[in-house]
Amino acid sequence: MVRRLGVTGGIGSGKTTVCRIFRVLGVPVFVADVAARQIMNRDPAIRKEINAIAGKDLYSTDELDRKELARLIFNRPELLRRVNAVVHPAVLRMFDEWAAKSEAPYVIMEAAILFEARADTLVDRVASISAPVEERIARVMGRNDLSREEVMERINNQMEDEERDEQSYYVINNADNEMIIPEILKIHNDMLRLAEKDR
Ligand code: ATP
Repeated sequence: MVRRLGVTGGIGSGKTTVCRIFRVLGVPVFVADVAARQIMNRDPAIRKEINAIAGKDLYSTDELDRKELARLIFNRPELLRRVNAVVHPAVLRMFDEWAAKSEAPYVIMEAAILFEARADTLVDRVASISAPVEERIARVMGRNDLSREEVMERINNQMEDEERDEQSYYVINNADNEMIIPEILKIHNDMLRLAEKDR
């Protein structure tokens, strides 16, 4: 069976950067966020359920009106919970099918909310990426043109690094001054050894 590694971390921690290096090493990466968008836009059953939760048609342009959904969900955690309860299991199913078909020794799922979406149950090991909050704020402000307060709000809405790290097999410290490539190579070799044992 194809082995599976989960890669998670808060906003600006460097998940995408880390996964880019794994990709260069030839490891296929499934990006949960991209899959979720695809499913919400295209899966007819999911579209129907989202409309039912929203109480209106959110697909007048054929793609999900994400702004309107965000507006409806704002300050209504129960609605967000219901949308997640529909979308997360669909993303997990998609990953499961995609991973099972892979010919690689192991594959990666990249997800900011890996634990929250219970995706940890579908992977062999999880690598958590962390970085000092101040550096994360500076990175995201530079990338997304957001204010410090807006970035802080997003960070505060996510799980704490410590909680993620505690539940993870590997922790990568991606502070600006750290060398992450040796860490990634170590995990890569570890995962290859794990896959080798299955042969
Ligand atoms: P998000 O959850 O917002 O998608 P992410 O965890 O995937 O974030 P990245 O997109 O990989 O994070 O990184 C955020 C920004 O920080 C990017 O602009 C990236 O180039 C930069 N960055 C990542 N790691 C480092 C580092 N070690 N040193 C300096 N800049 C970094």
